[in-house]
Formats: sequence, structure tokens, C-alpha cells
Amino acid sequence: MKSAQRWGEDKVKQPLVCKLDLTKIQGNGDFPCPNCGVTISPEDETEVVYQILETKVKGEALEELVIQCNKCASQICLTGFSALNTDNP
Ligand SMILES: [Zn+2]
Repeated sequence: MKSAQRWGEDKVKQPLVCKLDLTKIQGNGDFPCPNCGVTISPEDETEVVYQILETKVKGEALEELVIQCNKCASQICLTGFSALNTDNP
């Protein structure tokens, strides 16, 4: 069935961007996705659970990371990396 409603596509879902401060997370930095609850680990580089959309670096320190949950497609803006870095020289 072909759809001729090319102009009816304005109902695109705006992804919700959640801000998350890593300094408020207990433990090793893992956190649940605010939307679907899947566990996201900043050290996970497989991109199975999430993918990195944007990286903001200040000097040599990571300042902000925008990721997208692969399960629910919501975007999460991570801040507070500087606090983590002081733990990990
Ligand atoms: Zn999610």
C-alpha cells in the first residue's frame, strides 16, 4: 500500500534530551537511561546500548557528552566529567 501523504509527516517525534550530572551518580558511572531504564556505562565503547552523538571538550577535559540510547532513542546529555577525572589521574 503506497502512501501519498508526503506532507503529513510533521508528526516527527522530537527526541527528549535529558541532562545527567555524572557527579550525582554513585558507583562506577553506570546509570539507567532516564527514559527506558537500560543500564548505560560511559566506559562501554561497543555502541550496542548507546551511541555518542556529540563530544564537547574544554581544554583536555571532557566537558559534555551527548549520547543516544539505542533502545528508546532518547538523547542524554552527560555533564560532570571533570569530577570523575580527578579520581583517575
Ligand atoms: Zn533508553
